[in-house]
Amino acid sequence: MTETRDVVIVGGGVAGLTAGVFTARHGLETTVLDSGESILRRNAHLENVPGFPAGVNARLYLDMLGDQAERAGCERELAEVTSVAADDEGFVVETAAGADFWADYVIAATKNTVDYLRGIEGVGFVDRGKTFVDCNEYGETGVDGLYVAGRLAEKAYQTVVCAGHGAEVATRLLDEDERPFYHDWTVPEDYFTGRGRDVPPGCEEIDAAERRRREAESVELMQEYFAEPYGEEPVQHPSVAGDD
Ligand SMILES: Cc1cc2nc3c(=O)[nH]c(=O)nc-3n(C[C@H](O)[C@H](O)[C@H](O)COP(=O)(O)OP(=O)(O)OC[C@H]3O[C@@H](n4cnc5c(N)ncnc54)[C@H](O)[C@@H]3O)c2cc1C
Repeated sequence: MTETRDVVIVGGGVAGLTAGVFTARHGLETTVLDSGESILRRNAHLENVPGFPAGVNARLYLDMLGDQAERAGCERELAEVTSVAADDEGFVVETAAGADFWADYVIAATKNTVDYLRGIEGVGFVDRGKTFVDCNEYGETGVDGLYVAGRLAEKAYQTVVCAGHGAEVATRLLDEDERPFYHDWTVPEDYFTGRGRDVPPGCEEIDAAERRRREAESVELMQEYFAEPYGEEPVQHPSVAGDD
């Protein structure tokens, strides 16, 4: 049976998960299909992501990002996408396990994996030792509704750059979808309404009690994440690990 979604994101690494946070927060039904091999799992200690003064375990960071995408409303599935086909109405996304999704939009965020896109007329590829998808700075390709995010869009090889690009691509998509969108801000009570303005779409005013509740929840959750060193070891390069 074909499942229908507003957005299917292929690749749930840094860029794909961040894109999903934004599309799902703005009400688009979003599924992230990921084969579970973000290159960031190879990192030994992640020290250049803003907000972590002494760095953070990269596997913990990725898992927290996945949890954030789910809290925002994304569905996530461990799945390898084998093909994406396009017509005037949207996209059919197929997985190796035989599942089908129909989506208005696809965001491809699979680092240098491109084979599943080769059947789509109008998609260009760039070969520089690794393969990238030809797109503009907002991840738009030659095919309406098909976007590319992160390394696959030839963004620089840093986590924060790829995460930022995932957010940028998602906000571009929301623009194209004509979703009422402002800045995705949560603001104190009266910030807009106290000036006689409506709360813009995509923003939220919260009162002091709600602000304290959310902060308490955040403190509790972060304490759980950081209660102990994260057990998972880095994934070694295949040639060092003897898998090549
Ligand atoms: C050893 C090492 C250390 C690093 N250390 C740092 C660091 O200290 N600081 C830093 O800023 N950056 C670091 N990086 C770089 C960082 O990991 C990347 O910039 C970032 O992960 C790129 O994000 P991405 O979303 O584009 O790709 P990825 O995070 O690799 O995500 C791509 C995802 O696509 C999935 N995928 C691929 N094909 C398919 C398919 N057909 N179907 C479904 N899913 C698919 C993969 O499983 C993967 O989860 C390091 C990289 C390496 C290799």
